[in-house]
Amino acid sequence: MLYFSHPACLEHDPRAHIPDHPDTPERLVAIEAALAERGWLGWERRPAPAATERELELVHSRAHVDSIRELCLAGGGEIDADTFVGEASYRAALHAAGGACEMTRALLGGEDTIGFCAVRPSGHHAEPDRAMGFCLFDNVAVAAAMAIADLGLERVLVLDWDVHHGNGSAEAFRHRADVLVVNLHQAGLYPGTGATTDLGSGEGRGFTINLPVPAGSDEELWLSLLEHVAIPIAELYAPQLILVSAGFDAHRLDPLANCNLETESFAQMACQVRELAAELGVPLGAVLEGGYDQTSLVASLLATMAALGGVGEAVSAAPEAILTSRAASTVAPYWAL
Ligand SMILES: [Zn+2]
Repeated sequence: MLYFSHPACLEHDPRAHIPDHPDTPERLVAIEAALAERGWLGWERRPAPAATERELELVHSRAHVDSIRELCLAGGGEIDADTFVGEASYRAALHAAGGACEMTRALLGGEDTIGFCAVRPSGHHAEPDRAMGFCLFDNVAVAAAMAIADLGLERVLVLDWDVHHGNGSAEAFRHRADVLVVNLHQAGLYPGTGATTDLGSGEGRGFTINLPVPAGSDEELWLSLLEHVAIPIAELYAPQLILVSAGFDAHRLDPLANCNLETESFAQMACQVRELAAELGVPLGAVLEGGYDQTSLVASLLATMAALGGVGEAVSAAPEAILTSRAASTVAPYWAL
């Protein structure tokens, strides 16, 4: 199992603009301290390199990339009411997206079958043309787009279990059928998108699956939606790579949302996705998104990594096998209305 991170990810600190901003570098410091205490759970640590601007532009407009770089070079500032950058934020964001790309390259190169990328700033709210919701570039979307553009994949699953709807990834792939975006989130929460009726658009219609849950939902509903809706759809789609937008803010102790997952719920979700990857014989990489109660974030992330690590030898994902895995072109997206 491969673990990716980079010290540059600690240099982005929105508290320079709002002192009690919840996205702190200490989130990642605490994660790594807990992992270090436990021998990194047996995972191999690797550095998350900076993404290239060409990689970012597989998802984001040049104008967006330029605007973030220039704002940071100018010393930083406010992007919206809760998204701020400082001078080092551009570098942090490059390493966050680059870590997701490097993990994807390593997994598809057959170096391992399971990866986790603990980076920040998070990505899933960043739309092709704008930063928002603490996110500058959409790390998972950039990695998915890179896997298709550079590594020849035809079908990638993005599964987003952060408690907030991943509007950035949804917009990045709204018109595309080569990325299936499945999103579990609390209905009515920031950013307000992600209705069940939004199925994507044009050629991408049917390849966006939104599974909003009411406030107060616990693991019974989250695990059930994963098991009975998300996984069966993913099996039909037969992705060649699974990327998880792994936020931990659906935990009952999280201050930014109102769902009631326990620490162990995340391990159970990870097990389900791990089994899906094993069944399909494809690699699985997760990338950190939200999670703002430090104690439950650390515990839930460690539980997730431990659950993912359980798969070790069970998956044999030779790169050739992934590229020639059963084609889904004949599978009609029956869930499209
Ligand atoms: Zn979130």
